[in-house]
Amino acid sequence: MSNPRLQDIQTAVRLLTDLSRSTFQGRYADCEAIIAQHLKDGSAFLLELIKAAVEAGVHQVTLIEDAVSFLDDADLARLAFFLQSAASRGTDVEDLLSHALLQAPELFPDAALATSYDFADWQQHTDLRSAPACKHFIFEGGSPSDSPFPTHRNHPTWHLPTTGGPLAVGGRGSATCPVCRQKLTHLVTLDSSEEKSVPGLSIETCANSLEPTYYSHDAEGRPTPIGPFHSDDGSAIEPASLVSTVRVAATPPRWLRQSYGISNSRQNLFRLGGLPSWVQGPQFPLVPGTDREMKFLLQFDSLAGFFWGSGGMLYVFWDEESRITCHVSQWT
Ligand SMILES: [Zn+2]
Repeated sequence: MSNPRLQDIQTAVRLLTDLSRSTFQGRYADCEAIIAQHLKDGSAFLLELIKAAVEAGVHQVTLIEDAVSFLDDADLARLAFFLQSAASRGTDVEDLLSHALLQAPELFPDAALATSYDFADWQQHTDLRSAPACKHFIFEGGSPSDSPFPTHRNHPTWHLPTTGGPLAVGGRGSATCPVCRQKLTHLVTLDSSEEKSVPGLSIETCANSLEPTYYSHDAEGRPTPIGPFHSDDGSAIEPASLVSTVRVAATPPRWLRQSYGISNSRQNLFRLGGLPSWVQGPQFPLVPGTDREMKFLLQFDSLAGFFWGSGGMLYVFWDEESRITCHVSQWT
């Protein structure tokens, strides 16, 4: 590694080591700027930085954990080996391990996966290392315009290569909520001729509802709210008016499992199919009047004009036979 790079690593570690609280934000920003400069240089710099941070005991910061996302596959494998030996020496690298485990479970033994909080939901799967196929909604321009920090827009999941035509996300829906009398908020209209694996549905939701709500869909996919309705607490918020353009991308293996807890608002959690990124743990609704579990269809994060609960996630479930969707929100 060249000397300027080594100097930058030493500078970054020194910035993170300084414990004076008053200047933390400034030092963090300086460190972030150093990392940003090296993002396009391949991942050797980031791998050395993560290792140096672990060795200096300053690795338990979002900045270092997020660097894992930008490693190439070979360096991710090197990091997995490094972290497992660090853990066996008693170093607390649990958060870094969580990132590596999710992105490349094939690099870890069963015993390591069994200890991971994020894999707890998935222990029932016959093969922990395989995950169902998934797609991402990719926003035009790379990430939603209300994304709070420029550095959050860098994450690879905002930039996956897309297929198919543009879809509108957000804006006013067509139906009205019978409780709060507000127009529903349009999430997305799925086109089954474009995406063979998804039903042709217009997904609209009452943005005022914090409880699971059900919608029936006619032959064209148009929604009608059905019970149970949400309670009318008089705190109606204006439906989201922001309209964004998205395209669908096939999710590469590395991002089939995304944990809400460690995505740090940086990863794109607007997902179609696959595994839900639960905020509060699994909550699969049943088709009303049956004991049939509904199928997970998609999830939307609190971005792009949407805001769920205190800023969590909305999960949409679908039942083909009854043509019903159920919308469940979870937040911290
Ligand atoms: Zn409502």
